[in-house]
Amino acid sequence: MEWTRSETLALAMHNCTHCHGSGLRLGRKGALAPCNCVLRAIFRACYSRFVRCVTQEKHLSKIGLEPHAGRQRPSTWGRKDEEYIADFCLVARRGLDDFEYKLFRYHFLLGADWKLCCRRLGIARGNFFHAVYRIEQKLGRIFRELQPYSLYPVDEYFHGPARPWPRTPVTAPGPSKVPSRLRFPAVGKTA
Ligand SMILES: [Zn+2]
Repeated sequence: MEWTRSETLALAMHNCTHCHGSGLRLGRKGALAPCNCVLRAIFRACYSRFVRCVTQEKHLSKIGLEPHAGRQRPSTWGRKDEEYIADFCLVARRGLDDFEYKLFRYHFLLGADWKLCCRRLGIARGNFFHAVYRIEQKLGRIFRELQPYSLYPVDEYFHGPARPWPRTPVTAPGPSKVPSRLRFPAVGKTA
């Protein structure tokens, strides 16, 4: 996929020293690449939705009708919250290496703080935070670039892409004519 400024601008950190708030950086081959601050913002948006899904009361999760692009089956029923939770975990499992996934599980899924993670994994504090940044950037990119259904934008995941405007031109009504058979009472005369 192609990253554009219109997408990254809103996500970038305005004081980022790498992209200076534009959200894009020039890659090695001269192509524009998303800045790490954008990738981390995407991860955090997906993660906060994940936390909302897993911590909400079970009865709040509802079945919804999902539209499809194909003609054969216009829509299906699904439980979006549960699907999102499963996708979030599966994508992380596939995208991260063993060490990263362990840290991801302890810190993001089980809520362990840096002290507990460092003790459990036998790493220094600095290495912990470097790894967290790396995980956020890696998953932020995967969540956005995933095909055919990306996890980000989260609204599109849950409600489908915004529908384009109808292509048929809307004809403006012409000047309205008063039908000849209508007769109006003459002003100022009473019966
Ligand atoms: Zn940046």
